[in-house]
Amino acid sequence: MQGLLTMLTKFIQAGHVQADVLEGKTARLVRAMEALIPKATILTQARSIREASAASQGAVSNEPIDVDKLDEHALPVRDSASNSAKGKAPARTRRIYLECPGLRILFGPGQNPYTTYAWAMHVHHETPWDPMMIRDEMFVRSWNCNDIVPDNHEACIPCEALVRNNVLRNMLKRMKEGIHENSPHHYQPIAGLLGIIHIKSARINVLRLLKLNDNRALLHRQRQIEDSKRFVLAVASGKVTRISALVRTAVKRGSSVRAMVVSMEKAAVDLY
Ligand SMILES: [Zn+2]
Repeated sequence: MQGLLTMLTKFIQAGHVQADVLEGKTARLVRAMEALIPKATILTQARSIREASAASQGAVSNEPIDVDKLDEHALPVRDSASNSAKGKAPARTRRIYLECPGLRILFGPGQNPYTTYAWAMHVHHETPWDPMMIRDEMFVRSWNCNDIVPDNHEACIPCEALVRNNVLRNMLKRMKEGIHENSPHHYQPIAGLLGIIHIKSARINVLRLLKLNDNRALLHRQRQIEDSKRFVLAVASGKVTRISALVRTAVKRGSSVRAMVVSMEKAAVDLY
């Protein structure tokens, strides 16, 4: 099958045959192959391939996955991810597809389709296309896609017409220029949501610090009130004689109410 695909690709690249003619011939070839092999045999082979694949991956466990135990550093890292982090533009090569892959979406340097496209928008809005990822490249495939890619085109006519769709154009514009933080979250791509989480985390930290400062200020005021109450009680006790002289001296020294109370308590026991 791989050899057949290589031969068909070379045929298209060399321009020996038109894509739509080749598609018709290929469809007839597939039908002829299906006629030669009984359907039951194909199903049996497919089942055995699935079973062998499942066996190679080990027994399927119904145990829930604890994501906290996953070792992120043990996972393979994509080259494209490290390039994006460095702000490099992803390498773009023109691939030839036997079937229309849809309109290719180009992303700027440092942008990644997985984090830049607003996937959640499709939950709320019906758009005449399906977003698709093929080998780390993003395509939008029209619901009217006819699968046939004309010569010298990258996609079929309905898919290429999506470039004039106002909803898609606005979406691409938002991807390029960014989306306001207050926009509904389903318009945000994952990168936007990560940015919002970062901003909100920073605000939470600032609010925590402010709360800590307020608590300290309230504690200080509470102590001052308690000292004032002790001062009043000390004056009302009548145990301190010449209280006006003691307060006058304390005020001249710039003493706090607490210091005055301590002085009055000492004077009450004749220590001052
Ligand atoms: Zn198409």
